[in-house]
Amino acid sequence: MTIPANALLERLRAIDERIADAARASGRELSDITRIVVTKFHPPELIRELYRLGVRDVGENRQQEYSAKTEALADLVDLNWHFIGQIQSKKAKAVRASATLVHSVDRERVADALDRAEGDSPLDVLVQINLTDDLGRGGVAPDDIEALATHIAGLSRLQLRGVMAVAPLDEPPASAFARLHEYRARVQRVVPGATWMSAGMTTDFAEAIAAGATHLRIGSAITGPRPVHG
Ligand SMILES: *Cc1c(COP(=O)(O)O)cnc(C)c1O
Repeated sequence: MTIPANALLERLRAIDERIADAARASGRELSDITRIVVTKFHPPELIRELYRLGVRDVGENRQQEYSAKTEALADLVDLNWHFIGQIQSKKAKAVRASATLVHSVDRERVADALDRAEGDSPLDVLVQINLTDDLGRGGVAPDDIEALATHIAGLSRLQLRGVMAVAPLDEPPASAFARLHEYRARVQRVVPGATWMSAGMTTDFAEAIAAGATHLRIGSAITGPRPVHG
């Protein structure tokens, strides 16, 4: 797999234009929005190419793959790694070792494990919220948001920055993100500085920007289709 650099640059520019349009349409400042390129399943060389094109924020969702890539690309010292996937407590150290921001804290156990893991302190984290009715999905249930936020606020080596969610497939993204906006306000009653909202992927980032997203997680619109994994 290699994507010609000019094709990658064109897609990056096209997405950034659409982000700028959506920000303008919603009266948002572009400087309040971080575009993260989700590079899961793609090889480290793709990330290196993105870095050459100016990308400084990338997202990964599987710990082993993330650890292999952070190691392979350790020379890119100003590249920000965003961890956006499920975290097993026993892998918290590996996640903490390289992450700039962990988007997917959805249980006290995970928060505790990240808090205890070695690494630079404090570590910025988001509470992932489940916007679906399926309890098996990642994310804390809306009823438990305050309890989890309060727990994280009590951990000295984590800094709670806001919320993260994935829009459900069976609902218009705008209504799902409107709920997320309210959930962020609930987190802010516990931690006033928790102003970030990680939301918006390839198909719904414009709606996410309109709802107040500060961190977009965009994969296939920039990288092309993900390589198939067996
Ligand atoms: C894969 C993934 C994305 C990016 O999805 P695209 O549809 O390719 O933009 C965003 N967020 C999470 C949590 C993901 O796992």
